[in-house]
Amino acid sequence: LPKKGDGRRVLLKLSGEAFGGGAVGVDPDVVSRVAAEIAEGVAQGIECAIVVGGGNFFRGAELSQRGMDRRRADYMGMLGTVMNCLALQDFLEQKGVSTRVQTAITMGQVAEPYLPLRAVRHLEKGRVVIFGAGAGMPYFSTDTVAVQRALEIGCDEVLMAKNGVDGVYTADPRSNPDAEKLEHITYDEALKKGLKVVDATAFSLCMDNAQQMMVFGLDESGNITRAMKGDRIGTVVTG
Ligand code: UDP
Repeated sequence: LPKKGDGRRVLLKLSGEAFGGGAVGVDPDVVSRVAAEIAEGVAQGIECAIVVGGGNFFRGAELSQRGMDRRRADYMGMLGTVMNCLALQDFLEQKGVSTRVQTAITMGQVAEPYLPLRAVRHLEKGRVVIFGAGAGMPYFSTDTVAVQRALEIGCDEVLMAKNGVDGVYTADPRSNPDAEKLEHITYDEALKKGLKVVDATAFSLCMDNAQQMMVFGLDESGNITRAMKGDRIGTVVTG
């Protein structure tokens, strides 16, 4: 699916945890702020597709540790992402941005099915496409889906927006006070060091397909717009 023209097309991955504002459910103030920043980037002509996580509702791995079947718990996780998609869609539309939600699990009343060619058409028309329900498959993460979607619809960069951390560090900054933020790292190094800020499957999919990524923090206001425009505010990850 080659990109027409030389405009910038990005895949923005938003962590679900951010949407909850630290609690279970959706914090409208947070989603509204995130939507405003995306709207600003779109107004500057950047084509934007989005994958939203679901950690503010359910994480399959956590539920399975507490006795649930992993596969069923993962489907709950995927359904949680769809609620985040609808919340984001609502606030984007309120700000005058035209949007479409596409889900990997078909639910025709609330969203289009995932159709990559149609997603590209939406982007070309200036619409924001929000991908929900992950890959539609248990045992995957939304980080990995973000990379897969970016590859399939031809995005210049995957922008991994994280909350509570603003890039890739030499070690986990929450447990190691000496951890230092890196401006650049290769996929190979990130994998060898076992850095968990993005999951290993997502890193390796990028590595195998020479897909560029930037990991950055969305807590500082304006950062999403900056990342969309290509500012190097976090850690750039390349092959
Ligand atoms: N999930 C899944 N397959 C996918 C994407 C997500 O099974 O393709 C489930 C998985 O249980 C995951 C949950 O959905 O824990 C929420 O996604 P994720 O943990 O990636 O969200 P985030 O950490 O970004 O908020």
